[in-house]
Amino acid sequence: MARKLAVIGAGLMGSGIAQVSAQAGWDVTLRDVTDGALARGRSGIEASYEKFVAKGKLDAAAAEQALARITTTTDLDAAADADIVVEAVFEKIEIKREIFQELDKLVREDTVLASNTSAIPITKIAAATSRPERVVGAHFFSPVPMMQLCELVRGYKTTDETLTTAREFAESVGKTCIVVNRDVAGFVTTRLISALVVEAAKLYESGVATAEDIDTACKLGFGHAMGPLATADLTGVDILLHATENIYTESQDEKFAPPELMRRMVDAGDIGRKSGQGFYEH
Ligand code: NAD
Repeated sequence: MARKLAVIGAGLMGSGIAQVSAQAGWDVTLRDVTDGALARGRSGIEASYEKFVAKGKLDAAAAEQALARITTTTDLDAAADADIVVEAVFEKIEIKREIFQELDKLVREDTVLASNTSAIPITKIAAATSRPERVVGAHFFSPVPMMQLCELVRGYKTTDETLTTAREFAESVGKTCIVVNRDVAGFVTTRLISALVVEAAKLYESGVATAEDIDTACKLGFGHAMGPLATADLTGVDILLHATENIYTESQDEKFAPPELMRRMVDAGDIGRKSGQGFYEH
């Protein structure tokens, strides 16, 4: 089985994917555009390994070996010998298409190109390449070392073989996969969470209930581990707004029309945990 992985984007998701993959024995090339982003990515990975070691869930020597399997670079050419590439850059279609176009020219013909996009149709990204049959969605969840799920998404031309390669990769890093057979914007998971967050934000905006009560309803009524507004704060109101807007643009389904409140929160910088204020104060 393939063992060389390139991860494009060393942010929250890219570094998480690099971390679990290196731990599972993959040789990882982690690429970002600046040395600063790479240094942040690497120190995040180090800190996370340290936590697992401190909790007795990872051997110190294994953590050291895993870290040694990660090479960071600003050079996209370093991805050339990868068996599989996972892209995890900003959720902007133009940036993703540009990267896939460049990767297509660089990597071997049989290399699978995967995107960690949360909401952009895989077919649109795949169309930037000459190998749409080898492009697939591999949607991981944050924090990657903790969350079990990988949502695999078939683009319009993705082959069974590509899906199998992506599944083998995701399972090799300890994830359980679900398969999205039709390339709808937002796939299964982002559609579900977007619909829930949009409705929760509308209920909150119109004063039907407090943020705490809306979240308590989902936790105690449905057994959710976290309420939708707390989830929005954790994920980032900006990220959820963007994902919801993408789904709305694609589907024209009114239930995905984001409430004005979410736009104003993003305008004001109240995007959740990362800014200290979202639906809750943090
Ligand atoms: P992030 O902002 O933490 O990181 C994005 C990284 O991409 C940054 O380090 C940036 O410098 C880098 N980048 C930008 N252009 C690049 C390029 N041309 N080449 C290499 N690197 C480049 O974002 P994130 O939260 O890690 O999200 C990344 C992707 O994963 C997005 O598509 C997002 O929708 C998806 N996603 C995010 C989450 C989440 O909870 N944050 C969950 C699932 C999927």
